[in-house]
Amino acid sequence: MKPAAFDYLAPHTVAEAVDALGAGAQVLAGGQSLLLEMHLQRARPAVVADINHVPGLDALTVADGTLTVGALVRHRTFGSPGAVPGPLGDLFGRAVGYIAHPPIRARGTMVGSLAWAHPASEWCALAVALDAVVEVRSTRGTREIPAGDYFRGPFQTAREPDELLTAVRYPLLGPDTGVAFTEHRRTGFSFAQVAVGAALTVRDGVIAGARIGLANCADRPLRAHAAERAVVGAGPSPLLFAAAGEAAAAHDAAPVPEPYADVDYRRHVIAVLVARTLREATPV
Ligand SMILES: Cc1cc2nc3c(=O)[nH]c(=O)nc-3n(C[C@H](O)[C@H](O)[C@H](O)COP(=O)(O)OP(=O)(O)OC[C@H]3O[C@@H](n4cnc5c(N)ncnc54)[C@H](O)[C@@H]3O)c2cc1C
Repeated sequence: MKPAAFDYLAPHTVAEAVDALGAGAQVLAGGQSLLLEMHLQRARPAVVADINHVPGLDALTVADGTLTVGALVRHRTFGSPGAVPGPLGDLFGRAVGYIAHPPIRARGTMVGSLAWAHPASEWCALAVALDAVVEVRSTRGTREIPAGDYFRGPFQTAREPDELLTAVRYPLLGPDTGVAFTEHRRTGFSFAQVAVGAALTVRDGVIAGARIGLANCADRPLRAHAAERAVVGAGPSPLLFAAAGEAAAAHDAAPVPEPYADVDYRRHVIAVLVARTLREATPV
């Protein structure tokens, strides 16, 4: 199908982009979800504001222990070794390999994924697990929304329609933190049936901190608090991680049935993947 007719705007500043959104335009970032929706005519924006001409939105900066990712930083940036320092860069590097395929990773953006809020998005699960903060701007000003409050349901967020997501911020992970990301999917380029990202901090043989994010385990990305509680304060072991997997499946996840995966099957996959991800994340 062809998209319905629309007007095209190319703002050259954030202020122009925000004005366009205030007048009802919809943002075009990487276009890897929006253009598909427009071609299928599930999205029919009257006006599209293409933010690709706004300088500065492609900035990736590290300062004071915080990584700031601008709205035009593409997925593939995170596949470049050293783009993000330390374990956080390692975690993003592992996750990005699961996102679609190289052409989509070359255009699609991390922030666009947070705006789109697909329940199976790798970036959305990590944003929740890592206590990221999203920055949104409108003609009313700028506000910051913790990722834990930002996702409201499938494709639903706390962002108002006239707000531009300008950046997302993450605290860097310390050097005594190990990371892993695993995923189960039916076919090579489909979205995850279940994805798990983890960061595990171990000091003196004891798990001092755990961050576990789940994608496609509920109607929105989740932080697996029950699984985290199951491991913090104990020494890493396969039995402990198996128990954490069971806790995630039973208490954190709220999977919905899919055509090729009923709820029992999905809970089983969640338990197995959480245990595996924690084993892989254990720092050596
Ligand atoms: C075949 C296929 C497979 C895919 N597989 C995966 C996958 O495995 N994992 C995954 O996570 N994603 C996957 N995607 C989606 C892809 O990652 C997109 O790049 C991503 O969802 C959106 O990013 P974008 O920059 O392309 O945004 P766009 O497509 O440009 O925008 C998406 C939506 O977000 C809004 N938006 C974008 N940026 C902003 C902003 N700064 N402020 C306000 N609103 C904004 C747009 O208005 C639109 O509603 C897949 C897509 C395709 C087509």
